[in-house]
Amino acid sequence: MTSDGLPDLRHEPHPNPTPADQRRALVADPVFGTVFTDHMFQMTWTEGRGWHSATVKPYGPLTLSPAAAVLHYAQEIFEGLKAYRYPDGGIGLFRAEANARRLNLSAQRMAMPHLPEEWFLASIRELLAVDGDWVPSQEEASLYLRPYMFASEAFLGVRPAKEFTYLVIASPAAAYFKNGPKPLNLWVSEEFNRAGPGGTGAAKCGGNYAASLLPQAEAIEHGCDQVVFLDAVKYENVDELGGMNLFFAYENERVLYTPKLGTILPGITRDAIFTLATEAGWEVRETDYSLARWRDDAESGALSEAFACGTAAVITPVGTVKGRNGEFKVNGGEAGKFTMQLRQTILDLQHGRAEDTHGWTVKVA
Ligand SMILES: *Cc1c(COP(=O)(O)O)cnc(C)c1O
Repeated sequence: MTSDGLPDLRHEPHPNPTPADQRRALVADPVFGTVFTDHMFQMTWTEGRGWHSATVKPYGPLTLSPAAAVLHYAQEIFEGLKAYRYPDGGIGLFRAEANARRLNLSAQRMAMPHLPEEWFLASIRELLAVDGDWVPSQEEASLYLRPYMFASEAFLGVRPAKEFTYLVIASPAAAYFKNGPKPLNLWVSEEFNRAGPGGTGAAKCGGNYAASLLPQAEAIEHGCDQVVFLDAVKYENVDELGGMNLFFAYENERVLYTPKLGTILPGITRDAIFTLATEAGWEVRETDYSLARWRDDAESGALSEAFACGTAAVITPVGTVKGRNGEFKVNGGEAGKFTMQLRQTILDLQHGRAEDTHGWTVKVA
């Protein structure tokens, strides 16, 4: 046991880490999700034994039985968060405890083991302790962290697995938009949905993403960036995008609407926006929000702005919404003032440029 208590923690340093000049070049201009740091964190859970064999080791291929349950029945969950380079050169995380909590909510829904929250944070600290130099310092860039857990037991029977693997890998990420956010063109899927009542919509699991790929491809075919999913019962109310939550701003009333939780993913950015918008004098209402209302209020101008949010793209304005029955624009297809203000507020907090009055940041170096 070490000070952070990770069970059997071992370090296997990389024998040939990336040379510093090569690393700097990779970090300066990363292509998202293609470059990974030198190390990864791995830990195993076995029934009757619990978590064990925590290891920081060279990033590389896994050994997995072809019968590993995840490959057949998709028992897999993940998280996504970022490590930011602060102006003083330190490294910080944003609301990482919320990611730790959410991983466990996902684990519960998917019949997977609980991971103590302090071990989630410790696993990230251990990885950043060896690979901290991979955290970029250019504007809006970060080191994307991907903790995930899957059923690694070799067994083809259908039941929760008796062995799971937990990993953390890290990938440098540039600003999502090079020249400021470009308003999104959204495609409304009126044929497919991502999650129904009682399903796994609130869990961050790979299966939800598998279900979203075909409708996402349909969105691209229609010249759009992202798909909007409607509720799976009546196809009336807006749920969310494939990987982002949605907000609707009514400037005159200073009210912000967002779909209520249930079948959607409880985003941490979404939750932070509740606090920041309230502090800016807006009222946030979690409620059913219909596609018909979205169209009518965008056309009348009552709806002043709409935006999507998530860790990857932070806050992104919605420009155009297309569906089988035509299209409409929000705010003339332009990024709105409130959207851009919120975006700046959250970016300043995440990157350690504004004072953290909410206890949201976790300094790791
Ligand atoms: C991860 C995710 C989000 C955004 O959550 P954040 O915690 O804000 O990154 C939204 N929708 C889906 C489906 C997601 O998987």
